[in-house]
Amino acid sequence: MTTAGDWDETAEGVFRKRFEPCDVTVTAVVGSEGVAVIDTRCSPAEAREIKEQLRHMTAAPVRWVVNTHAHFDHCWGNAEFVAARLTPPARIWGHESLAAQLDPANPLLAALADELRTEEPRWATDLLELDFVAPTELVRDHASIDLGDRRLELRFLGRGHTDGDLWILLTGDDPGAQPTIALAGDLVERSGPPAFGDDSFPLEWAATLDRALSALGPDTIVIPGHGDTVSATFVRDQRAAIDAVAQEIRRLHAAGVPMEAAAHEGSWPIPAPCLGWAIARGYLALNEGRTNPPH
Ligand SMILES: [Zn+2]
Repeated sequence: MTTAGDWDETAEGVFRKRFEPCDVTVTAVVGSEGVAVIDTRCSPAEAREIKEQLRHMTAAPVRWVVNTHAHFDHCWGNAEFVAARLTPPARIWGHESLAAQLDPANPLLAALADELRTEEPRWATDLLELDFVAPTELVRDHASIDLGDRRLELRFLGRGHTDGDLWILLTGDDPGAQPTIALAGDLVERSGPPAFGDDSFPLEWAATLDRALSALGPDTIVIPGHGDTVSATFVRDQRAAIDAVAQEIRRLHAAGVPMEAAAHEGSWPIPAPCLGWAIARGYLALNEGRTNPPH
């Protein structure tokens, strides 16, 4: 396999590329038995570009696809990797919550697609052929994919960016060795602040990253869902910022500061305009008494 186009060989046989729109990172891991693709972009049309580019890079078939989480920019290209569009089809892995979230009958999917078509001109056409495909290989806590001479360890470590983020480790033959690569999905962000959305768990996120950090070595390269690679030190710093946001939400809530005033009243390590949903979701959890992670 040789590097083709602008895919970056982050480690031996680990190819990574940042794609627009959304600056989403796709990673292809080549093993002796085939290729695993982690995340599939926003549409089948965009996923076809992944397949075509990989075809120029290796004769090995894509046999496994992993969705790091349910957000559209990471999994709406899944249809390109199943029967009719890929022979033989790949098996698609994801957290068990994705089965319902990516079920074609989920009305939220069509509503979001309609919204996106008006946002980005290319999506108006790309999303016409949208075909929602949920993972069939569902992960509750842990799963392992054998690529032949190396393995992907898929771990659900708790809620954070969403309720279904997988943390993925690439390991070799030696089970005691530190992982070469960790794929963080959007549990870690490099191209911007951590993304607290309307489905995030701001009070639980730091504990999830604690579990992730415990499996990293000093030389492990971490691939975030958006942006360039980072080190364990970066993850530790981002975890501290996320924890500080959670502590400030708790403090303001306990002091009786109304949710609407919290962004303005608080002292934040992340620009307050990025924290609207963090505050809303944090207040909701505290109002409901959900102060401790369930994991
Ligand atoms: Zn996301």
